[in-house]
Parts: sequence; C-alpha cells; structure tokens
Amino acid sequence: MLKDKIPNSLMYVSLLTLQDIIGKNGFYALLNVSGLHKYKEELPPNNEKVEVPLLDFSTLIKGILEIFGEKGARSILYNLGRRSFNVILEENPALLGLVGLGLKVLSKKKRIDKLYKISSKETNKIFGENQNYYSSDEGFVFEIYDCFWCKGLKTEGPICFAEVGWNAEAAKWATGDEHGVEEVLCRAKGDNVCKIVISLEPKQDE
Ligand SMILES: [Zn+2]
Repeated sequence: MLKDKIPNSLMYVSLLTLQDIIGKNGFYALLNVSGLHKYKEELPPNNEKVEVPLLDFSTLIKGILEIFGEKGARSILYNLGRRSFNVILEENPALLGLVGLGLKVLSKKKRIDKLYKISSKETNKIFGENQNYYSSDEGFVFEIYDCFWCKGLKTEGPICFAEVGWNAEAAKWATGDEHGVEEVLCRAKGDNVCKIVISLEPKQDE
C-alpha cells in the first residue's frame, strides 16, 4: 500500500514541469482550482524526504483533469512524465537508482529490463509497496495495484499517462530507442490494477 506521504522530489518535479508545460498563468489557475496555494510561493525541496501529503498530489492531478478534461490531461501528463524523468536524471539521479547501473555492457533488452527492475524496487521502497514488474512475451510489464497517479480518480479511459511518458523516456535513456508504451488497464476506469506494457522491440523509424 502507498504511504500517505510522497517524496518531496515527486511534487517538486511535477510542479516544475507543469509550470513549463501549461505556462505560468495556467499553473496559477491550476493551484487555485486545486486549493494548493501554498505551492505558489515555493516548490517543495528536491530531495527524497517523504513529507508531501499524497492527498496534495492527488488533488493536483484531479485539478488537471478538471481544467483540461480527460483528453487534454493525457497529453499534459504524458509530457510531465517524460520531462520529469530528465529532471530527476539531471538533479537527483540517485533517487530512483539511476546511477552506476553498468548498462552499457548489456544488450538493449537487458538494459531496459534492469532499469525497470531497479526503479520498480526503489518505487516500492520509497512510496510503499504498490507495484510488480516483470517481463514476458507481452512486453516489459508494470502492474500497479496502488497507483499514486490515479488515486481517487474516475475516468472514461486510462489516465496514468505520466507513468506512460516516464517509462517511454526511461527506455529511450537506456537504449536510445523509442518504445511503444501503453496503459492497457487503469484503476481510474474501474480495472483492478493499472497495467503498463512497454514493447520488447523498439518502434520502427517513421
Ligand atoms: Zn493509475
């Protein structure tokens, strides 16, 4: 189960990238709608201390849905996921075990598998046990049974596009390739788990 607080860095990176994606005015409107005025003056510090209420984070995501609708929210969240990976990489790579992985000597598939395995383990440690990771013929698979992206949300379609974007960016970082990433099940639309499947083979160049 998720802890009732999340690491400061997750809120930091989400707020930071949102400012960029939706602009300052959009960002302030979002904080107003979500009742999160306290983040107007100052973002939480970018560290791994578990101090931000999960409820603040859920309220923020709910606010994005409210303002931009489900379709709009998807692309914003996808973007947020991709950018967040790079901010973490630049500012705090130790956070999700992104340092000293020795990926270069491995085949591309093994690189992705190792990266996902480690970051899944780290996520369970930091956030509370909330997911399983495995690879199978279907692809690289995350089954998230307690998902912080969609906690408390009700949507028509899958909504954990930040998770989708994050994993696409992670695969690209590990191999240089773009992989197809799809959320095939999502708790917000009534499934038991959020299931993210990353293709074993990279996308063909267009
Ligand atoms: Zn989810």
